Amino acid sequence: MADGKATTTPGRLVVISGPSGVGKGTIVRRVLQQVPQAVLSVSLTTRRPRPGERDGIDYRFVSAETFGRMADDGALLEWAEVHGNRYGTEAAAVDEAAAAGKIVILEIDVQGGLQIARRRPSARLILIAPPDDAELRRRLEGRGTDAPDVIERRLAKAHEEMRMARDSGCYNDEVVNDDLDVAVRRVVQLIRQENTQHD
Ligand code: 5GP
Repeated sequence: MADGKATTTPGRLVVISGPSGVGKGTIVRRVLQQVPQAVLSVSLTTRRPRPGERDGIDYRFVSAETFGRMADDGALLEWAEVHGNRYGTEAAAVDEAAAAGKIVILEIDVQGGLQIARRRPSARLILIAPPDDAELRRRLEGRGTDAPDVIERRLAKAHEEMRMARDSGCYNDEVVNDDLDVAVRRVVQLIRQENTQHD
């Protein structure tokens, strides 16, 4: 096999995407509590930490120089620019966790999800969708972390992202986050299904 690394993670990667404000962070936290063998891939980002975010736990906050160097060195399994900042997944961390038998959850945007689909075809891709537009706007405003122009940009990006995911045909499942408990239960079910299929 020419690329040994590509075979180290079959069936152990789960991508969770969806517009910001859709509640995917909350879903992922709950899923991690319920599925003991699941771990979260901690992404690299060039954006500044928000209040309360911890380096190495929520993200690894790095400079644009460090990020660029890692991308050039091929150390990133995928990366994308979102709202003017760069975000990426370190390949080694994901492959190590997968090799140790973990289900690795990647909470990444659709651009990144599509790169994973290409490079790790056995990954399962799940799209989290908002119940409707008005609710998504309410959730983004309710967070209180972003200025109005940022919220408008996030809404526009949300539409684009949902369309891109659906049109790609790469996302295996779509889960509507209307009722949080129901959405969590569905994602857990999908992840367990994935695990059984490959055990
Ligand atoms: P936020 O700045 O709100 O934490 O995240 C903004 C967007 O970047 C979200 O849609 C999130 O899923 C995405 N994101 C976070 N980490 C990664 C990553 O490693 N790769 C990619 N492609 N997107 C990411």
